Amino acid sequence: MPWCEDCARYWTPNAMNDDGTCPKCDAVVDAQTDEVVAEKAPWHFKLMIVALVAYLGWRVVDLFM
Ligand SMILES: [Zn+2]
Repeated sequence: MPWCEDCARYWTPNAMNDDGTCPKCDAVVDAQTDEVVAEKAPWHFKLMIVALVAYLGWRVVDLFM
């Protein structure tokens, strides 16, 4: 979602001006959608690593039992 600092609100891409500026104050709006998605990725990645380590640890224990 494009975020306007000056108006302190999100704009839908359709609501914005054709040149990518804010429809209310004409400031250049940051479209940080990709960065937000990238910031969420490590949380799932860490969980996957923890699950993988736990699984492999269990397999090693199971191997010697
Ligand atoms: Zn604005």
